[in-house]
Amino acid sequence: MTQTHSIDHDISDRTVLVTGGAGFIGSHIADALVDDNTVRVLDDLSSGRRSHVPDGADLVVGDVRDEETLAEVMTGVDTVFHEAAVVSVEHSVDAPIETDDTNTGATLRVLEAARKEDARVVIASSAAIYGHPEYVPVDEDHPTTATSPYGVTKIAGDQYARLYESLYGLPTVALRYFNAYGPRQRGGAYSGVISRFVEQALAGDPITINGDGKQTRDFVHVDDIVRANLLAATTDSVGEAFNVGTGETVTIRELAELIRDVTDSDSPIEHTDPREGDVRHSCADVTAARKGLGFEPSITLADGLKTVPGVQQREK
Ligand code: NAD
Repeated sequence: MTQTHSIDHDISDRTVLVTGGAGFIGSHIADALVDDNTVRVLDDLSSGRRSHVPDGADLVVGDVRDEETLAEVMTGVDTVFHEAAVVSVEHSVDAPIETDDTNTGATLRVLEAARKEDARVVIASSAAIYGHPEYVPVDEDHPTTATSPYGVTKIAGDQYARLYESLYGLPTVALRYFNAYGPRQRGGAYSGVISRFVEQALAGDPITINGDGKQTRDFVHVDDIVRANLLAATTDSVGEAFNVGTGETVTIRELAELIRDVTDSDSPIEHTDPREGDVRHSCADVTAARKGLGFEPSITLADGLKTVPGVQQREK
């Protein structure tokens, strides 16, 4: 295990529901809360793993779209962290209706079930709602013009969260994560670029960059994302949406070189065709999260990379 959870927070004696709590981000949220709270996890294990759910949390294997299941797991809940989703942009392009059901539909059902319990809901939104940014760093007032069904569902969830606060007075917060990374992240084409590069570097395979590598990203460590969630669970700034990033960027070429370095790898770095529709520059303006949540990104990429499995062991 590469992760230690010494994340300070003052959330205790609550009953908490983490949807998608067997997944990458959700399982870290569950980890941070399990010692001082009653933690329930709802996950269908479609991509999450049972082994990620901390001992002491109650795992309900079920579908977040199912209203009966939701009503059961929501009983007595004070705070919901809603992470379950179709997270693959590519899959959303192939299966827009399924994606909308799982993302928009389930988010609405989670909000509705939470309304019956008067439970606070912290929702996982995404930088994908900004599409191709018109300017960086992106603040929360940037236009939302998603470029995938996934992005549209995240706009919808983000908007429903705001609406449930203004219509029904339900305390909600939407957190717009930028590119998350850290232990338990699966490899993959988008936010999984760090996992993919690490896998390639450790295998001695070429590290493959789509396009010229000059595209920039704001990589935010999962522990910082957990901190933002814990702050959102107590903030008075409800009915609002906040960017969760670092405000710092790295080019994908620099990232590849850094990973080659920290894995002590001889892998060559190769460039393949640019990916169609790839965002050129992405960077969070976290001013609002600083003011509204007291959020301070605290983990640099160089430090955060050391927590990625495979990196630590090989570090010189
Ligand atoms: P993940 O795939 O690791 O976690 C999602 C979890 O949801 C998985 O455990 C999966 O089994 C579960 N799930 C999927 N469909 C379900 C269903 N119908 N019923 C019950 N459980 C279901 O992904 P993650 O990276 O941890 O993402 C968590 C949230 O953060 C998602 O909402 C995602 O859109 C959002 N997000 C992630 C990133 C990132 O970089 N990882 C960036 C922006 C936003």
